[in-house]
Amino acid sequence: MSDIDANLERIRDRMNQACARAGRQTEEVELVAVSKTKPAEVIQEAVDAGQVLFGENRVQEVMQKKPLLPSRLRWHLIGPLQSNKVRKILPLVEMIEAVDSLDIARDINRIAAELGLHPKVLLEINVATESSKHGFSATMIRQQLEELYRLDRLYIQGLMCIPPFDPTPEHSRRYFQQLRTLRDELEKLGGAPLPVLSMGMSHDFEVALEEGATLVRVGTAIFGGR
Ligand SMILES: *Cc1c(COP(=O)(O)O)cnc(C)c1O
Repeated sequence: MSDIDANLERIRDRMNQACARAGRQTEEVELVAVSKTKPAEVIQEAVDAGQVLFGENRVQEVMQKKPLLPSRLRWHLIGPLQSNKVRKILPLVEMIEAVDSLDIARDINRIAAELGLHPKVLLEINVATESSKHGFSATMIRQQLEELYRLDRLYIQGLMCIPPFDPTPEHSRRYFQQLRTLRDELEKLGGAPLPVLSMGMSHDFEVALEEGATLVRVGTAIFGGR
């Protein structure tokens, strides 16, 4: 068994246990294996261990690696997207997880229409309102939700966040709770379900699952350091 195989098995166990603690079904949650900076041969090891969903944060890396790997794999773009890359990435990924402004949402919508696509997207929320971070503040998303829902090519499926890094997982809990609470509020405000919550990384995915994550994005704990 390779390290990656063993790591994946351990993470799936820990995910199952976190779900059990929270009274949740394991089927409600999915592991996004974050393969950024890792070459296709390394990703293939995770595929051999049964992983099919991968997250990349750069368009260029998806373009390079996807053709080298089985076509049945599913890819999420988890990093910020620039408007000049939208046309390239849309046909390649199942979901764009980090839509962080109305402007980029409009660009995605327009180009999706040109390409005849209906991309799934998540709205990135800047939960700690850090000036250095991407994403909508809670105030902005309340103001702009109606406008976002008018972009009729987008399947807006939920929210994602990257809380400030803190080595103590318990310290992330309040941000995960904030994201879930905001989701509940936006569902009422917009009158549409937002079932997906993408939150939790290598060091804090268990806390995120306890707080309702449906996607956890785990890199280092699977593939080792970058
Ligand atoms: C790199 C990255 C991750 C994974 O981080 P790890 O700490 O390696 O698990 C998750 N989400 C995003 C947006 C990332 O860029």
